[in-house]
Amino acid sequence: MATTKAPAKTAAKKTTAVKTSSKSSSKSSSKPEENEFQDFFIDELKDIYWAEKHLAKALPKMQKAATSPELAAAFEKHTLETQAHISTLEQVFELLDEKAVAKKCDAMAGLLEEAEGIIEDTDEGTLIRDAGLILAAQKVEHYEIATYGTLAVFAKTMGRDDVAELLVQTLANEKETDVALTTIAEGFVNEQAAAE
Ligand code: FE
Ligand code: FE
Repeated sequence: MATTKAPAKTAAKKTTAVKTSSKSSSKSSSKPEENEFQDFFIDELKDIYWAEKHLAKALPKMQKAATSPELAAAFEKHTLETQAHISTLEQVFELLDEKAVAKKCDAMAGLLEEAEGIIEDTDEGTLIRDAGLILAAQKVEHYEIATYGTLAVFAKTMGRDDVAELLVQTLANEKETDVALTTIAEGFVNEQAAAE
């Protein structure tokens, strides 16, 4: 039954919609829609700031729960890196003359809850736990990759290459972390987990 066509793309136009009319020859920063875009951008920075702060607290718990020393070391390393991501965001807020304020990120809250659930549902000392922790951590990294990728593009769009550069630095580290986790999973964890 392939009859009905879905109604034209839903998304109620929000106020962030960009008007196509005005020429953008002069890059004055006072156009109202640019300010709205900037407000939206800052709001999203507050969201990822919250996410990083809570991740920095969750990673040591994941480190403690991990079975293999390799995974524990990866979590320890990324705890330090996450603290650097927090400082980088504080630098970004400063560059934008904004107060560094964290605003609850429901997505990260959910992902971290999931990680806790995996720890509860798996036995200590097993590699099934590590496989699960890697899954949880990679979901987090992918969330961060999506966020920093988009925010870096937003910053560029606003003509803030300085901010974009900082966000791209963090983005690169999130990608490295994701690859490192894959290496551990494929190196021995998954295979041994499957054999448990
Ligand atoms: Fe991060
Ligand atoms: Fe990360």
